[in-house]
Amino acid sequence: MKTENQALFEKFHLLKSNAGTHSPSITTIKSELPELEIKVDACFLSNPYATELFLKYFRKELIDTGEINRVLEFYPSQNKEISQLVGGHLQIDPSRIFIANGATEIIQAIIHNFVKEKLLINIPTFSPYYEFALPHTEVIYYNLKKEENFRLDPDDYISFVKENKPHTIVLINPNNPDGGYLSHNEMIRLIQELAWVPNIIIDESFIHFAFENSSLELPSIVSMMDQFPNLYIIKSMSKDFGIAGIRCGYAIMPPDKVKQLLKTGYLWNSGGLAEYFFRLYTRKDFLKEYEEVRKKYITESLFFVTELGTIPKIKVYPTKANFVLIEILNGKSADEISTELLLNYGIYVRNCSDKIGLNGQFIRVATRYKLENEYIVKSLREVFHK
Ligand SMILES: *Cc1c(COP(=O)(O)O)cnc(C)c1O
Repeated sequence: MKTENQALFEKFHLLKSNAGTHSPSITTIKSELPELEIKVDACFLSNPYATELFLKYFRKELIDTGEINRVLEFYPSQNKEISQLVGGHLQIDPSRIFIANGATEIIQAIIHNFVKEKLLINIPTFSPYYEFALPHTEVIYYNLKKEENFRLDPDDYISFVKENKPHTIVLINPNNPDGGYLSHNEMIRLIQELAWVPNIIIDESFIHFAFENSSLELPSIVSMMDQFPNLYIIKSMSKDFGIAGIRCGYAIMPPDKVKQLLKTGYLWNSGGLAEYFFRLYTRKDFLKEYEEVRKKYITESLFFVTELGTIPKIKVYPTKANFVLIEILNGKSADEISTELLLNYGIYVRNCSDKIGLNGQFIRVATRYKLENEYIVKSLREVFHK
């Protein structure tokens, strides 16, 4: 590490430790460390083409028309009204839909209200699933194995669940941070065999990046909801639609549970911009264009991951999401590599050293624009050439 970078390095580490088990936001880094130039943010997992698409509509329909005034001055619609819209679009009874200020709010709502004694979490994972557990909840862990590329083995998992009898289980598909994917049929088999578990939470926040055929059709299990009264499907819109800043997510869950949540809160938890997004999400013209940028981004992701796979001294784990988990095999730590990438190349990646269930040195890298992907590949090649 160059010595002139030492001070910057220390400041960055302080920011990182202040962010707990998450990464400091790009806004925090920009204001606290203005001297640090971030060229590529490959830490946050977002489809940049989808952000552009949203902005195109936003400018045309809210800014150019002056409608933004109404969005800012007045209250947005209530939770129930937005769930009517989303339910109509998903062809799911709106009484089963819970609209949230980002999926993180749903995770908190479910874990605080409906999770009793024992909560089973697969690790590595998205940390709020265990961090939000209340003191009376016992959290138990199922290890996704590195030797099996972090792929969940349905048989092994089913026998683990039978043995431990958790009250709630969580399946993130594709999983964050490893990108591991359970096929549509495997998922159906799992929920059929585990129909006796009181709560099954399925987080499909990355499902728009997964596919099972060459036409890249979306493999969601939303259509199965009616058959399984114990399912909760959680969907963040932050990554696939590239709009983490406006906080949009929804869940499909048993109607009595939605009722219980709305009875004591969440009345206006979507802001005006989130409501604008949810309205777009139900529109054919927007969705048609979204489909194009979704597929374009998946195609570029595939190419990016293949290129990363040719770099020596790293292992790129198989993924069906818009990011890859990379194991560092040149003897350096994830701290060292992520800092080197940030300070010498301006590339911000997720240093996974705080992730429980990851045994080794790992970073997670998101797919970005094509030119940015090329820059990441070139830089990693340089870093691991030495
Ligand atoms: C990012 C993420 C979420 C939360 O997203 P929000 O921005 O709060 O909508 C939920 N689940 C997983 C698996 C995630 O990676």
